[in-house]
Amino acid sequence: MTTSVASSEPDLSAAVPAPGQPTAAIDNGRVADLIAQLLVELGEDPAREGLIGTPDRVAAWWSGFLSPDGTATATCFTESQLSGQLVIVGGMSVWSLCEHHMLPMNLQVTAGYVPEGDVVGLSKFGRIAQHFAGRLQVQERFTRQVAEYLTGVIGREDIAVAARGVHLCMSMRGVRMEEARTTTVQTSGRFRTDPVLSQQFLTVAAGQWGAP
Ligand SMILES: [Zn+2]
Repeated sequence: MTTSVASSEPDLSAAVPAPGQPTAAIDNGRVADLIAQLLVELGEDPAREGLIGTPDRVAAWWSGFLSPDGTATATCFTESQLSGQLVIVGGMSVWSLCEHHMLPMNLQVTAGYVPEGDVVGLSKFGRIAQHFAGRLQVQERFTRQVAEYLTGVIGREDIAVAARGVHLCMSMRGVRMEEARTTTVQTSGRFRTDPVLSQQFLTVAAGQWGAP
């Protein structure tokens, strides 16, 4: 068995900006001013004791959130004897912001693929998910973007990505909504044509999430 690092590593930071990904540097001072204005419009006094420094902290938070680690490269290792095995990476939890309400959503992510000669470094899956979560998002697009990125990494279509989301824009609203969950699944290649493979993936994904 030989192990080597493939040379054709896609660089997340070089990826074409997708919808919701900021392309310009953020002016923290300008954002802080706007947050202070927002507080005034919401009937608050930005100069009162508890709010001093809040606009600056909010601006710094936005800056960090919108700049997730873009240096992660999805390393592939040659492992010819592992071809054909179903690989599932689950238990990944990332936070994103719903672009309709600008409120947080927590996404539990499970990704699966079938190696053919190359395996993807397992630690990279979480970085990839984090990369696409650090922007204004919708869960459906997030799931598709992670799947499409992984397709590019492994160079084939045999990819499945499932996400279960808790959206605060739903959970904070009204009675009995805090248990609401949204599930999205994006499959391609053999995960669409092979019902057994698809079912194996979904069973493991559902097991990762637990009830309900
Ligand atoms: Zn929302």
